[in-house]
Amino acid sequence: MGNKTDNRKIIKSKKAVIDAHTHVGVSARFYYQQGYPYALSFEDLVFRMDSLGIDHSVVFPFVDSRFYVADDASPEIKTTNRYCRFPYEQENQNLLHEIYEIFPQHSHRALPFLMFDPSRETAQQAGHMEALLEKYPVYGLKTATTYIQAYVADMETKGKPIADLARKKGLPITFHSSVHPQDPWASAYDIVDFAERNPDIRVCIAHSARFAEPVLKKAGGLPNCFVDLSAFIIHCKLAVADSPGIAPKEKRFEANYHDPLSVMIKLTETYPDTIIWGSDTPFYYWIQKYHTADGKLADDRLECGYDEEPALLHRLPDDIKSRISHRNIIHFLFGKKS
Ligand SMILES: [Zn+2]
Repeated sequence: MGNKTDNRKIIKSKKAVIDAHTHVGVSARFYYQQGYPYALSFEDLVFRMDSLGIDHSVVFPFVDSRFYVADDASPEIKTTNRYCRFPYEQENQNLLHEIYEIFPQHSHRALPFLMFDPSRETAQQAGHMEALLEKYPVYGLKTATTYIQAYVADMETKGKPIADLARKKGLPITFHSSVHPQDPWASAYDIVDFAERNPDIRVCIAHSARFAEPVLKKAGGLPNCFVDLSAFIIHCKLAVADSPGIAPKEKRFEANYHDPLSVMIKLTETYPDTIIWGSDTPFYYWIQKYHTADGKLADDRLECGYDEEPALLHRLPDDIKSRISHRNIIHFLFGKKS
């Protein structure tokens, strides 16, 4: 049995650099579509952290689960309970097993979050996550509803058992976000509204809320809401390209998206207590296919080097770097946004 001591004291005690958004696990669906990335082990994540100057990482499973059936021919996600009785049963179990049972010598580097689906089999998921919380230190919850066609807007109805678990255990929730007109699943606007209605749950909107100014502004004013910068460089590229994956110009945070470092500084100066740093390792690189609500197959190819996100962080002025890679993340994880 590994060392399963809660490591929050170690993390709070020094000016550690924390990455608030990484994934460990595997996606057969991505692999067999010739997508990239499709896998990362915890051991490999630690190697990267060592070479990139990162002390601790929030770690989620990959967005795929064996509960979902890979079927590229169909625009609708289908499910099977043949391998998992409910979403992420095996994936959450495996993440914690890998961190605490296989690599206990590295477990103090990880802040594992459990993955959930807010729209399907939520009572079973909540029960299983609660049992895992009894056994292992867990620091939060994560959902990426676009790729499983589940709804953030279900959080207070079908997803209530999971919201209640987060509230009861004081666990923060990170939400994958979208502003794409054909993505009804992960609306950044729905996420910030959920945060507003649930002041007792800490919420993080991933991917810079797709630079949607109204969302950033609202999040900035909420004591329980944070925004992470995951996969920042490819999102700046999407902004330059005026992609529908980014808020349209009239609603976009005004910045020079040709220069990601300057955007990061401006965002943090504008929302000093709200922005948290996350690399999205290994999804800073993104070659994937998935369906949008109109049944079309999105086929993205967005490239970024493995060291580019941390390199950006280390080039920030010291006060901004420590604010977004330590101070604000501690507030997100453990409470008390100032
Ligand atoms: Zn991610």
